[in-house]
Amino acid sequence: MPGCDTVLRMTGTSTPSTPAMIDAMIDAVIDWYRSSARVLPWREPEASAWGILVSEVMLQQTPVVRVLPRWQEWMRRWPAPVDLADAPTAEVLRVWDRLGYPRRALRLQDCARQIVRAHGGEVPRGEQALRALPGIGEYTAAAVTAFAHHERAVVVDTNIRRVLARAVRGRALPDRSYSAAERVLATSVLPSERGRSVAWNQAVMELGALVCTARSPRCEQCPLQARGCAWVAAGRPAPEEDTRRRQAFEGTDRQLRGRIMALLREHGETSPAALAALDPEDPVRVERCIRSLLADGLAVRAGEEHASGAGAGGVGTNVAREAGADGAAAPDGLRLP
Ligand code: SF4
Repeated sequence: MPGCDTVLRMTGTSTPSTPAMIDAMIDAVIDWYRSSARVLPWREPEASAWGILVSEVMLQQTPVVRVLPRWQEWMRRWPAPVDLADAPTAEVLRVWDRLGYPRRALRLQDCARQIVRAHGGEVPRGEQALRALPGIGEYTAAAVTAFAHHERAVVVDTNIRRVLARAVRGRALPDRSYSAAERVLATSVLPSERGRSVAWNQAVMELGALVCTARSPRCEQCPLQARGCAWVAAGRPAPEEDTRRRQAFEGTDRQLRGRIMALLREHGETSPAALAALDPEDPVRVERCIRSLLADGLAVRAGEEHASGAGAGGVGTNVAREAGADGAAAPDGLRLP
């Protein structure tokens, strides 16, 4: 297995520390996946590369249970990139519903348009071509390469990072941000054979999502507990530092942006009074959130011309009208682009 010497140097533990042990770890996780994986439509053999790409974007910051109905609705409406490319942007945002981080919906539409313009409507092959698409980063390009095109790719999401941190490095949690050391490790353990590499990527990700969870890993259900998980073997040491405090959602601008978007999805347009009523104590905050939605292309002032639609530029085509210098709310309401 290429790169296993690196694994040996990095772990500094006796588990799992030989190519044979890494191989056994991979086999165990793949076997576990075959009997324990969730049945999800984007994993079915008939799932298209486009469907898999959409699922990967939706799943980045949203749990499966919330993504599933939205993904099904998206694929029913827009089964191919050309369908989404032609859709009205307001409709795209409505169907995105409450998945959160709605800029992802705009980026997906941009991505669809670029696929139609530059690739004849087919999701391109190869991580380089994928990463040239709007909104497609290192993770998504690797995931689409592995899961849609069945090619060897180093797929690293938070779940995989956590399993490798525990099982191989003996740490409670991965590094605070994705590090070069983690990438080297993920590359080192990736099987060299194409089919096995795809199976490993899928299986280790699912293990992290279902069993080796962040807060309470279910080691008793894990195929690696008896096969030398380094963290278990080390006596489950605590994290070196607690850097993972979650920011409270209540009272944040993100929450208020979400409430504005919910109004827009429901009514298509909102009045200045309805916007101001969202936080009567803090009109400056309301205006700040309005401006950020305008800047992101997620809304336009109610009096403005429609700027998007089939073939339009999508993200960033709607320019915010300046509010007064004192930051007070502008007189117009908002509508979806
Ligand atoms: S044994 Fe426990 S800590 Fe180790 S990989 Fe499995 S679930 Fe994670």
